[in-house]
Amino acid sequence: MPCEAASRFLILYGSQRGQAQSLAEEICQQAAEHGFTADISCLSNQHNYNLDEIRPVVFVVSTTGDGDPPDTAQKFVRKIKNKSLPHDHFSHLRYALLALGDTNYANFCNGGKTIDSRLQQLGAKHFYATGHADDGTGLEIVVDPWIEGLWDALKKTFPSMATSDQQDAVLSDSTQDSFHKTASGQEKNKSDLEVDLHLLKLSEADSQKGKGIESDSRDVETVSAVLVASLKQSVPPLSQSALNVPALPASYLEVRLEQVSTEGEKVPSDKDGYHEVSISKAVQLTQDDAVKTAILLELDISEQNLVYQPGDAFDILCPNRASEVEELLLRLDLQTWKNCAVQVNLLKNSSKKAAKVPLHIPQNGSLQFILTWCLGIRSAPKKAFVRALVDFTQNGSEKRRLLELCSKEGSADYNSFVRDANVCLLDLLRAFPSCLPPLSLLFEHLPKLQPRAYSSASSSLQLPGKVHLVFNVVEFPARPEHPARTGLCTGWLAGHVSSILRRLGTVLASERPGTSALPKVHVRPRPSSTFHLPADPSVPVVMVGPGTGVAPFIGFLQQREKEREVNREATFGEMWLFFGCRHKDKDFLFREELERFVHNGTLSHLIVCFSRDEPDAAGTVSTPTYVQHNLRLHAKNVASILLKDKGCLYVCGDAKNMAKDVNDTLLEIIGNELQIDKLDAMKTVAGLREEKRYLQDIWS
Ligand code: FAD
Repeated sequence: MPCEAASRFLILYGSQRGQAQSLAEEICQQAAEHGFTADISCLSNQHNYNLDEIRPVVFVVSTTGDGDPPDTAQKFVRKIKNKSLPHDHFSHLRYALLALGDTNYANFCNGGKTIDSRLQQLGAKHFYATGHADDGTGLEIVVDPWIEGLWDALKKTFPSMATSDQQDAVLSDSTQDSFHKTASGQEKNKSDLEVDLHLLKLSEADSQKGKGIESDSRDVETVSAVLVASLKQSVPPLSQSALNVPALPASYLEVRLEQVSTEGEKVPSDKDGYHEVSISKAVQLTQDDAVKTAILLELDISEQNLVYQPGDAFDILCPNRASEVEELLLRLDLQTWKNCAVQVNLLKNSSKKAAKVPLHIPQNGSLQFILTWCLGIRSAPKKAFVRALVDFTQNGSEKRRLLELCSKEGSADYNSFVRDANVCLLDLLRAFPSCLPPLSLLFEHLPKLQPRAYSSASSSLQLPGKVHLVFNVVEFPARPEHPARTGLCTGWLAGHVSSILRRLGTVLASERPGTSALPKVHVRPRPSSTFHLPADPSVPVVMVGPGTGVAPFIGFLQQREKEREVNREATFGEMWLFFGCRHKDKDFLFREELERFVHNGTLSHLIVCFSRDEPDAAGTVSTPTYVQHNLRLHAKNVASILLKDKGCLYVCGDAKNMAKDVNDTLLEIIGNELQIDKLDAMKTVAGLREEKRYLQDIWS
């Protein structure tokens, strides 16, 4: 192989929300430090790369929806799934794959697994073991050692690709070896950036200086703070450790602000398929003293002719909080520039590979508009962003702490004080007052502000031209790292509809505004490929939807109620609903409507539980607390519907706890019913998923 070809490899990423892309870019960035040349491309840009070339390929692939490859990888997947491809189509291909997923969701890492298994079927071989990174516990737990081990695996692979007869032996060696050694932490990468102790000394000097001028009470505070780690401060051993920090991400954007009028700016809309619709009704479904506030919205979608089926969701565009945008502008000294038009260009001579101006930042939008509608300013800054902020921080102790937070040694602190605490850029800027990043850095690192999805809670058969959505107002209590706040979209929606909000069973206190004065929102249908009622109405269904997870089932039941009305002769399968909430009298969502469904025979069984109500007066009966307890009580029926009657099980709502508990209970039910062990029960459940008879619509 010619010299450069001997070290040139290709990185392909399939990204849904930018995570896989930024990891692919990180690999690309690190490649040069390890003596490699990397080309990088999104899987969707098929004209950019050629998989017939003989060189190693590194795939980084995320997962979306119900275990699907990201939208940007769909075309590639369709192409490699082409049945006419011969079984040795990729026999020349040596590749490594980093799959990203979240164990809170079904089909963990399935986007990557789909590509991985198909490449294998077509004769491609791993030169390095596949990494499966879990966003539920922290991607970096797998990602960091995986990338660390990649370089050795590549080193072994290049010569092996030149001498193909030794290939397989070397390939399997490098695959096993490099990943396990580095994952167990025994082999450190010598060329990692070592940050020496002069920063630590700087930070000590700073704190000594501080002690000299501060009052006694401050001294006490400082001493106690030393003992407890926080966002701002570490404790030994981290505070005294040498640090391995990620390479400084190459800057690649140039931002110019121009004094021109940007009046009349509109919310980003039509081009992404969004429609502005009126909110014709807003009803608070819970009592004032309920732990969570649930709100139902009725959207008037008649003018836009938007269609949906029960089970589909709608994406809602929401802005960042005006107060947070203002504070950010103030903090960055950009207040006077907020109405200026922003021009973003690629920096000449940037070393970043395949740099592109982010598509979600419009040219000539005002600064305020971009910070309000385009950038996810609430998102937790990634380690690469934290690393980049260091270079714009003056104070030595602050610099040191930021370096710790993005270092390998500081991973636990990053997870506790940034990721799990959902710290955003503004929280970091509050905690590190000497940090003053330029606007270009924000544009490079802040992700796109994502819409939020809400399941339809109605059927257009029953509610033509309208759709109902229901949501809980998410509340985050104050933490040392940030003040109390509400969820970005749900908090905004709650305020946005306050003029028309009424309590359940009441009329609007003041006069209802005319249509033109109704609050508006930008929405886009988000159809589900699988989460629908069975095409054959005689198939029985079991629905599990506690809290707002009941939303799609209200749509299912409205649909079935109408179908029963218009087609009295047809056979309809049983419908079971397992619902749960905290208190019968405070947050039993859609109670009256559900009772009507039972009364008119649409819903065969409504099984409810209340997790915070006292047990029955006698206190003798152990009442079921959660939906899975009721499932267990009705195990025979559930098993019979799924195993004998070929029915369907739908689960909707909280991904973190409920969906897992329901899944475990299902394994137990099936295991007991069929008298099989857990492994076989898992296979049976996997079969149900495959047949689209066990369907989940879950979120965290
Ligand atoms: P965000 O600000 O995005 O915060 C949400 C999450 O971020 C929290 O759950 C938490 O994990 C984390 N977080 C953010 N800040 C903090 C902090 N300071 N401290 C701790 N954690 C924090 N929701 C419904 O209520 N009803 C539905 O019908 C519904 N349907 C959905 C359908 C689909 C297909 C999907 C994908 C999601 C659905 N969701 C539904 C969830 C919904 O999209 C939103 O995620 C949810 O409403 C929260 O949005 P938010 O912007 O208010 O919260």
